[in-house]
Amino acid sequence: MPGPTAGRGEVFPLRSYTPAPVGRTPASARRRRGILGGTFDPPHLGHVIAAEAVRRRLGLDEVVLVVAHDPWQKSGDRAVTAPELRLAMTQLAVAGHDGLVVSDLELRRGGPTFTVDTLETMRAAHPDDDLVLILGEDAAAGIETWHRAADLPALCQLVVVCRPGVNVTLPDGWPFVRVDIDAADVSSTAVRSAVAAGADVRRLVPDEVGSFIVEHGLYRVGLA
Ligand code: ATP
Ligand code: MG
Repeated sequence: MPGPTAGRGEVFPLRSYTPAPVGRTPASARRRRGILGGTFDPPHLGHVIAAEAVRRRLGLDEVVLVVAHDPWQKSGDRAVTAPELRLAMTQLAVAGHDGLVVSDLELRRGGPTFTVDTLETMRAAHPDDDLVLILGEDAAAGIETWHRAADLPALCQLVVVCRPGVNVTLPDGWPFVRVDIDAADVSSTAVRSAVAAGADVRRLVPDEVGSFIVEHGLYRVGLA
């Protein structure tokens, strides 16, 4: 069933990630859940394409786009858009995509965002589910610098989404699954720069995200 279609600038009620009661989960209710964490400043077509591709190729029940509250590795270098606005844009980006959902778990937790905390929360809430952490190329390249990075492989299966032919490694021979996609050649940095330069970003972001950026006057002053 296709999901709802957004009107221009309309923001849907948040579909939060809701932890289930702790306890044994019947096998039929066990889920394979992908997690694509990010700043999403703004979300773009590369995020949606990557999430869809991993969900399809690994047969995941859903991919959760988890919006960072305070991406501490970025917020020291540039002004990061308010988390509520990034959350709203990410909701718009996945509207109508079955199996893609957005979580505000990291906003509710507050403080600097550490993915390891998010994985532990999800693991505690759904002890029998499979957790699959999805990384793009730049995230994979920097994962060693993440808070408690060494704890990640025990908490989840790691998947790296990359362009065909690109060489990807993770630290210390961590096992990972590689998913090759002809990714949209786009990053949030490129979108912000394009908006600041007055360029058209319609081929880089979902339409409703583009409308949201215009209506809220985001990125006009070159935050990148
Ligand atoms: P920035 O340009 O600020 O680094 P970004 O485009 O990488 O932003 P993030 O929100 O930081 O966006 O990324 C969230 C996740 O999505 C990361 O794992 C990142 O590697 C991945 N990702 C970003 N762009 C793409 C893309 N075009 N294809 C596949 N994965 C991507
Ligand atoms: Mg990035």
